[in-house]
Parts: sequence; C-alpha cells; structure tokens
Amino acid sequence: MPPESISTTVVDGLALANEIRKELGEAVGRHVSAGRRAPRLAVMLVGDDPASASYIKGKRRACERIGMDSTEQTLPAAASQEDVIAAVEALNADEGVDGILVQLPLPAGLDANAITGCVDPAKDVDGLHAMNAGRLLLGEPCLTACTPLGIMEILERFEIPLEGADAVVIGRSNIVGKPVSLLLQRANATVTMCHSRTRDLRERCRAADVLVAAVGVPLLVKRDWVKPGAAVIDVGVSVVDGVLTGDVDTAGVDGVARIVTPHRRGVGPMTITMLLRNTLTAYESRIGT
Ligand code: NAD
Repeated sequence: MPPESISTTVVDGLALANEIRKELGEAVGRHVSAGRRAPRLAVMLVGDDPASASYIKGKRRACERIGMDSTEQTLPAAASQEDVIAAVEALNADEGVDGILVQLPLPAGLDANAITGCVDPAKDVDGLHAMNAGRLLLGEPCLTACTPLGIMEILERFEIPLEGADAVVIGRSNIVGKPVSLLLQRANATVTMCHSRTRDLRERCRAADVLVAAVGVPLLVKRDWVKPGAAVIDVGVSVVDGVLTGDVDTAGVDGVARIVTPHRRGVGPMTITMLLRNTLTAYESRIGT
C-alpha cells in the first residue's frame, strides 16, 4: 500500500485518559459509598526541582478529581540517604497510605535504586521495586511501571494487533524500555529492544508494526523510519530552545503511521492515569476487596 493512502490517527491521550479516570473515579466512589476510606497516594519530593514540583502538582490534581486522597512530603535537597529512607519507611508503616511514589530524578548524591528499593512492594505504584520488576519478568501479577501500562492501554483501545506483530522499542530504561518490552512480549509480539549502541536503528524501526520511542533524542524517528501502517508511540520528552519536543517527527509520519501519539497530550496523561489505577489496585489488595 503506498504510504500516501494511509490515514493517520493522532492519539488524543488526554481524552483517553479522561475516559479511564472517569471509570477510576466511579470505582473510588463505590468504595467511599460502602463506608470505606478513599485510596491514598503519598508522593515524596526531595529538593526543589521546578519540573518535579510541577509533575507533583499534576498528580495531586489528578487524585483530587477522582476523589482519591494524596499527600506530599518534601525533603530538603541536602537530605541524606538515611533521611530519605527513613521517610519512605514511615510511609511504608502508615496504614492510611496505599501508594508511595518517590519523584525522580533525586538530587545528585542520593542512590535512587536503593531508595525506591525501600518502598514496600505492595505500595510500589511506580513498579520500580525489584520484587515487582521480577514478577513482571516472570509474568506474575504485580504493580507495573505506569508509562508502559499507559502505552499498552493506548494500543489496546486503538485495537492495534499485537499477536505475532513485530515490535521495536528504542530505549532500555527500567522505567519505560524494559517493562514495555516485557508487556509487548507478554501480548505475543516479537520484540526487538534497541538502544544507543544498536546498529542500523533506522532499518530495524522500518520493520516494526509497533514502534515505541523512549529515548529523549528530539525528532530521532523520521518519516522514512516508519513502516506504512505502523503504530508509533512517542514517549520522549525533550526541551529544545524552550519548546517541548518528542522523539518522533509527528508531522513527518503523517500519512505513513496508522496511529501516532503526539508528545503533548499523548503518553503523558496516560502515565498519570496508570498511577491512579495502580494506587487503586494497591488499595484494593490491601483492604482485600
Ligand atoms: P533513559 O535516559 O533512562 O533511557 C534512554 C534510553 O535511550 C537508553 O536506554 C539509551 O540506550 C537509549 N538511547 C539514547 N540515545 C539513543 C540513540 N541515539 N539511539 C537509540 N537509543 C538511544 O530515559 P527514560 O527514563 O526511559 O525516558 C526516555 C524518554 O521518555 C525521556 O525523554 C523521558 O523524559 C521520557 N519519558 C516520558 C514519560 C511520559 O510520561 N511521557 C515517562 C517517562 C519518560
């Protein structure tokens, strides 16, 4: 089929996120109507990074809108590893907290893996604890990283066939690349995980029925990297001359891709939505419903 004949759908991630948040809000409402407390997400910020503060604000608003409780704890940038771990352990012990999110990146000098590794796996709504990452690898039920869950939800809601599909994931981070590769594999796609040392990246991408770019290199994926009819998911967020830019040349892939997620209102709103869903899941397993 010539590329020109393909009508590309630009995914409205915000609209999709709002649909799911409505369902989550209804679930929270049912718990509260049954006399139970609302689920609660605890977010911890270390330091005063403005981007992190803004992300946290977005998460608080998202919780409020679906009737979920949220708390924020801010520690100074100079907090020691022990201070941060002690604060995480206090949240682990708090019966009123269902989900714990340590906002990343942490200030230099703090060991993020050691800190996220102290979060109770049952409250690990970011899916970063080795217990949850290991369960994902083994195909067991677990709390899974939010961005990969959001990507899978987009693919499902847009009815992108995954069984036997060739999926290429660019990026191999613990928070996006690796977990989304595992989820795609679990959905019976044949997955190729690419990274900064991959040879012939363009050729590999051109073979993909599903292409996920989670890199952080602005406009890395161009029109001639995309197979006609492919589903293209742009996870990357970079700022170029003050302008937010993704990993994919969204305008360039128009008429080639079957669907593409834009860098704004694409994967981002779905990530927060999956954080809400994970918090609800953690709550329901803790209260035993
Ligand atoms: P990361 O920096 O941990 O990983 C980047 C990956 O890209 C690495 O595995 C690296 O090998 C690979 N890479 C780097 N340069 C490359 C190149 N030229 N060619 C091929 N591969 C290359 O990043 P991350 O945490 O996975 O995030 C990736 C991007 O996604 C970032 O821009 C981040 O801001 C964004 N992000 C967005 C959301 C969202 O909700 N929209 C969530 C998480 C991350």
